Amino acid sequence: WKHAPLTFRAMLDNSRSHGEQVFVVYEDERLTYEDHFRRAATLANRLVEDYGVVKGDRVAIAMRNYPEWVVAFSAALAAGAIAVPLNAWWTTTELEYGLSDSGARLVIVDGERAERLRGCAVPMIVARADGDLPPGAREFGEVLGEVRADVTPPAVELGPEDPATIFYTSGTTGLPKGALGSHRNLAQSPMSVAYALLRSVALAGKDPASAAGQRRITLLTVPLFHATGCFAVLTATMFTGGGLVLMYKWDPGQALALIEREKVTMMTGVPTNAWQLLNHPDLGKYDISSLGGVSYGGAPAPPKLLERIGDQLPKRQASNGYGMTETTALAIHNSGPTYLAKPDSIGLPLAVCDVRVSSPLGEELPPGQVGELCLRGPNVITGYWNRPDATAETFVGGWLHTGDLAKVDEEGFVYIVDRAKDMVIRGGENVYCAEVEAALFEHPAIDDAAVIGIPDEELGEQVGAVVRLRPGVAATAGELQEFLRGTLAPFKIPVRFWFREAELPRNPGGKILKTHLRKETLGL
Ligand code: ATP
Ligand code: MG
Repeated sequence: WKHAPLTFRAMLDNSRSHGEQVFVVYEDERLTYEDHFRRAATLANRLVEDYGVVKGDRVAIAMRNYPEWVVAFSAALAAGAIAVPLNAWWTTTELEYGLSDSGARLVIVDGERAERLRGCAVPMIVARADGDLPPGAREFGEVLGEVRADVTPPAVELGPEDPATIFYTSGTTGLPKGALGSHRNLAQSPMSVAYALLRSVALAGKDPASAAGQRRITLLTVPLFHATGCFAVLTATMFTGGGLVLMYKWDPGQALALIEREKVTMMTGVPTNAWQLLNHPDLGKYDISSLGGVSYGGAPAPPKLLERIGDQLPKRQASNGYGMTETTALAIHNSGPTYLAKPDSIGLPLAVCDVRVSSPLGEELPPGQVGELCLRGPNVITGYWNRPDATAETFVGGWLHTGDLAKVDEEGFVYIVDRAKDMVIRGGENVYCAEVEAALFEHPAIDDAAVIGIPDEELGEQVGAVVRLRPGVAATAGELQEFLRGTLAPFKIPVRFWFREAELPRNPGGKILKTHLRKETLGL
């Protein structure tokens, strides 16, 4: 029996070479690479022997970023199952949707999710139980039993094309879809992340070899159940033998304390995490000299964010990564000097990823013209679970149609101008929300902003903005409009502003929930 190299099993076996290095840190708990291997292999055997898991079965995971999440994910894959991470923010109904949509054979949860799923028919393994287990559920440690040093994972034959994961998309534009990823998609992810890193080191004129030799400690500020947390961070960390610092929940003050305590070298999450760290009153109070970089993606990052990082975290390398659940996270990346030179670009595609900008008729558009961004490569999944209609619509002629409007410059740098579904069309003129939002962020009073279309009889749509001001700073709609006149054409300037005291509604991927905002402000 032997396994193919481009599979998770190969990664797991390889991770053992990092042996006694610490892999996962959570509060005062530490899991070395060897601990992780033994636990994952032990649990994988339990899944096969106690739960009858066979190749291709779905094993769902629904919990916070606990170390058990990592062990459960590795165990599911090592057992030959398809790992199905569910959004831990989901309600009972949504979790039940995830379980039935994926046809999960069992679900591995934490205490909070166990409560939410009490009464659910799917067998449950519960880590960090809060009280009584739901009937029929078993406790994680009890299932694991004795963890032996000589344990070997089950002998399941897997190849690169075998399915490995179902990650649900964020549900920003509709019902979350299950993105079915293969072992090849998964196995290329750490290499793509490494490539992006080494390219940015090389572009900065430094020696990639010295950077490759440094042990990285990453603070993960987003959930593992989204592609970014899992593929841009977890699998990449595992491949390189780095450390992964997990948080109970995102909290900027706590993040500062953890960076100091764990000597974190990189913070990875969504742009909101970076903003909140910069805005935190304790930023100057901690020794965060270990931090070499801040990277984010998953949602638009206005150029102002890069400027603030330059001012408040000097010498730190900022990176902006573009990716989707369907691209196994990273696909396009901007970092270091090229990011400073082109702060409004998401950068260059990964080595493995082809990019084209298409007209509505499917023709490739020349540089400078805006069209739909399409992607192709071993990081792109082949389709959605159980959704032939959505698969046929999104994967056309071998290309993933992203639903994002973009342009490419003469040097191949990609610029996201908007999500096609967000764009406001005012009197036949396209207004890209992301552009107006970025212009708003330049105003010193703005803490957060979202641009939406207001239905208009005459013009089709008008531009509106929902804004949150920074505490203690005042600005009126008139002042904001006057400010925008300096950078935007008149038709792009919001005619109406809504001022909000509360934070703008965002999903765990850092994306503003515009459907919520439209409902709240316009009743649509
Ligand atoms: P759904 O597909 O269910 O509507 P979603 O598209 O938000 O949800 P994800 O796969 O988490 O689900 O997000 C991918 C999208 O996030 C991209 O299509 C793009 O619109 C946006 N995005 C990701 N990275 C960036 C980035 N660096 N800059 C701008 N937008 C980004
Ligand atoms: Mg999407």
